Amino acid sequence: MPELSVASDFRVDTDSGLIAPARLCLSPNRDARPEPVELSMIVVHGISLPPGEFGGTEIEALFCNALDWDAHPYFDAIRGMQVSAHLLIRRDGELLQFVPFTERAWHAGESCFRGRPRCNDYSVGIELEGEDDTPYDDCQYRVLGSVIAALIGAYPGLSAREVAGHCDIAPGRKSDPGPAFDWLRLYDAIGEQKESSST
Ligand SMILES: [Zn+2]
Repeated sequence: MPELSVASDFRVDTDSGLIAPARLCLSPNRDARPEPVELSMIVVHGISLPPGEFGGTEIEALFCNALDWDAHPYFDAIRGMQVSAHLLIRRDGELLQFVPFTERAWHAGESCFRGRPRCNDYSVGIELEGEDDTPYDDCQYRVLGSVIAALIGAYPGLSAREVAGHCDIAPGRKSDPGPAFDWLRLYDAIGEQKESSST
């Protein structure tokens, strides 16, 4: 039987590495995690394409190597970039999965968490559709808190203490999810999920 989390509206199947409900758009930008590895951190990101514009399909196109590089001057600057994340939470709260948690997504780049390099090896990468200085949407906090609670319930190496921003693991190089991201609000959202699961 797959191990199912009861700590959330979302369910994680540790056999397939998939979360439900989510829209699955498998990214080719993924590979095997090094063995043996325990999932031991979650990286929160912010992304918008073009920067500052929300609501389009460009992020999923980028992660699936289907972005039209000629469609916008910014895209030309990132031409050929092969990246992904496990999950994306859009502004309306829709959850997309690009990479199973059993595999390595290419989201962190050169990075280090508490002295441990190569965060992609052992982390789950979650992108929020957003921008450093624009408040994230209420529903994104709810979905993110719920998703993280489900992940914590499914993987013993994860906890609310093992969640960091891309800016924290690649300081000076990355700034997302930015000053607009409210960490206390995220901790509250994770805590609410845990409380509701224990009542
Ligand atoms: Zn990032």
